[in-house]
Amino acid sequence: MAVQASAQQQAALLDLQQHDTALLQLAHRRSSLPQIAQVQDLETQLGSAQLRLVAIKTEISDISLAQAKADNDVQQVAQRAQRDAQRLDSGAVSSPKDLEALQHEIVSLKKRQSELEDVELEIMEQLEQARGAQAEIEAQVAETTALLEHATQSRDDEFADIDTLSAIEVAARAQVALTIDAELLALYDKIRVDLGGVGAALLHRGACQGCHIALDATEVDRIRNLATENVVRCEECRRILVRTAESGL
Ligand SMILES: [Zn+2]
Repeated sequence: MAVQASAQQQAALLDLQQHDTALLQLAHRRSSLPQIAQVQDLETQLGSAQLRLVAIKTEISDISLAQAKADNDVQQVAQRAQRDAQRLDSGAVSSPKDLEALQHEIVSLKKRQSELEDVELEIMEQLEQARGAQAEIEAQVAETTALLEHATQSRDDEFADIDTLSAIEVAARAQVALTIDAELLALYDKIRVDLGGVGAALLHRGACQGCHIALDATEVDRIRNLATENVVRCEECRRILVRTAESGL
């Protein structure tokens, strides 16, 4: 047997539907906030910048090690050349053959030192470049962090506003639901869940406001002759059709 309910209870379904529609819109607004995508995007950017920062710091650490080694190489060659020069100056070496060998060694050490100093300079340039890159990435990290904080705050503010509005709707819906019999409420809720959010619709000027399809004349006639307590379902969409003074019957 069809569900029976007073005209007042059936009309209350439209009130309930308004709250449910509002809740659905709020949920949609909450899940499609542009700030959600912004936060995700900025988190990705920040993650990538942080990885680049780790990479450049590793690179700087490697270059610094190479620099220390190059400095040490230059120093050792320079010290050896200095010792040779001192031996030469001291007059301790007297054999022409030894003197020649010593002079020869000093010349090659100077040459070697010059080569090592070039390496040292090259490393210093690399280090300078890498430190410049580090400063750039650090600026990016700082900027992205600030943007992310701002977007997150903005998103959370929107969430809070929407949650406040939703809580008001939920409370209002509960008040209305209290006035509706369990059987009618259960039917409404089932249809609403099955049909994407709309369980009850006004029959307005002979058309269902749920699916916006006009009822044919025979069906309008049939509904017109039904007792007001009979809960009517739309033939097209199966939603509960609520009859009021506006229904055009
Ligand atoms: Zn319909």
